[in-house]
Amino acid sequence: MDNAPFAEANRVIRRHFFSLIDALSALKSLVTLEGRQQDEHSLMAGVLDVLLQHQDLERCSIFSLRNGLLECSVGRDWQDLTSSALGEDTVRAGRSTLTFRVGEGLIGQAAETGEMQHCRNCSTDDRFKKKGSGGNTPASGSLICAPICTTEEVLGVVNVYHPEPDFFEIWHEHLINLFCDILARILENNRLMRNMEDAVRERTGQLENALQEAENLKSRYEQLSLVDELTNLHNRRFFFPEAEAVLARAARYGHPFSMLIIDIDHFKEVNDTFGHSVGDSVLRDIAAELKKAIREGDIIARFGGEEFVFALHNTPLNGAHLLAERVLESIRRLRWSGPAAAVRTTISIGISSLGERRSADNKSLLDELLRQADVALYFCKSHGRDQCANYIDVESQSDQVSLTEG
Ligand code: GH3
Ligand code: MG
Ligand code: MG
Repeated sequence: MDNAPFAEANRVIRRHFFSLIDALSALKSLVTLEGRQQDEHSLMAGVLDVLLQHQDLERCSIFSLRNGLLECSVGRDWQDLTSSALGEDTVRAGRSTLTFRVGEGLIGQAAETGEMQHCRNCSTDDRFKKKGSGGNTPASGSLICAPICTTEEVLGVVNVYHPEPDFFEIWHEHLINLFCDILARILENNRLMRNMEDAVRERTGQLENALQEAENLKSRYEQLSLVDELTNLHNRRFFFPEAEAVLARAARYGHPFSMLIIDIDHFKEVNDTFGHSVGDSVLRDIAAELKKAIREGDIIARFGGEEFVFALHNTPLNGAHLLAERVLESIRRLRWSGPAAAVRTTISIGISSLGERRSADNKSLLDELLRQADVALYFCKSHGRDQCANYIDVESQSDQVSLTEG
C-alpha cells in the first residue's frame, strides 16, 4: 500500500496545527499589549512586532487613517512592491511619507468598505495600486488588507504580504480579521484612556489654578482682616499675638519693654465741627504720623476708634517717655489744608513698662500692661490732656493723694 498520500496529509495537518498554535500565540501576545500606558505609535510598533514574530505574517505594515488619509504608521511600506524609496528603518520609526487616500488601492478600499481585501496576486490584480517614484511592475505575491474597525469608524488598515501568489488560506483571513478586531478594541481603549488622561490633566490643572486663586484670596482676606482699612495700620487682631511674642522675648532675655496707649483729644469735636470725612482724613494723617515714630520691631496698631497702641521692644520707661514726648509734639505741629485747615489736634498718652516683672503667662502680663497704660491715659485725660503719664507715677501720685486724704 502506498503510504505517501497519508504521509503528505499528515505533514499538511502538522503544518496547519503549528500555524494555528502560532496564530493563537500571536493573538495572546496582542492581548497582553492592552492596558499598557503608551502612545499610539509605540503601541503600533508592539503590534507589528507581534505580527512579525508570527512566521507567516512576516511582511506587514499598519496604516492609520487620519482625515481621510491612510499613513504608514509602522512596518514595511511595500517598498519592494511599489518602488517607494523608503527604507524599513524609516517606516519603523513612524516617519513614512507613504500615504493612500480612502478608496485608493487595496488599502484604500479596505478603509472605504470596512471589508477585508484579499489580493491573490499583486502583479495581476487591478485593485493593486502602484505607488512611489519607480515604475517597476509590482512583484507577484499575495496581499491581505484588513480594516481595523470599531463599531463607529475605521481606525486604519493592517496589511500582510507574502511573496508567493495565492499564499493565504481562509484560516489566514479569519485570523487576520480576529487580529484586527482585537487591535481595534486596543486602539480604541488606548485613545479613550489617553483622552481621559488629557481630560484629567486638564481638570487637575484647572483645579490647581482654582486652588491657587483660593489661596491668594484667603491670604488677601487674612491680610485684610489684620489691617485697618482707614489708617492702613494693623488692627487689634494682629496686635495681640504679635505684641505677646515681643513681650515674651523681652521677658525671656531680660530686655526692657514698654507700651503706649494713645487717644486723640476731643476728637468728637473734630467730627462735629468739620464733618465725618474731615475726621477720617485727620485720623489717617495722625496714624501716619504715629507710624513714623516707631522703629523696626516695634508694633503699632489702631486699637479702637481714635485710639492707638504701641508695643516697644528694647525700650525702658524713660525711653518710652522720650518717645511719647516726641509724638505729642509732632501731633501738635500737624496742619491740614482745605476744609480741615482750622483743625488742631492733640493727643494723650498712657505709658506702662515691663520693668523687672516676669511671668509664665505672657498673655496676662500683656493685659496687665495694657490696663496700666489705660489707667495712665485716663489720668492724662483728667489732668488737661495733651500730655503723657506713666502708670508708676500715676499710682504713686494716687497713693500720695490717698495718704494725704487719709
Ligand atoms: P477725649 O479727649 O476724652 O478722648 O474725647 P473724644 O471726643 O476724643 O472721645 P470720645 O470717646 O467721646 O469720642 C471719640 C470719637 O472718635 C467719637 C467717634 O465719632 C470718633 N471716631 C471714632 N472712630 C472714627 C472714625 O473712624 N472716623 C471718624 N471720623 N471718627 C471716628
Ligand atoms: Mg479721644
Ligand atoms: Mg477714645
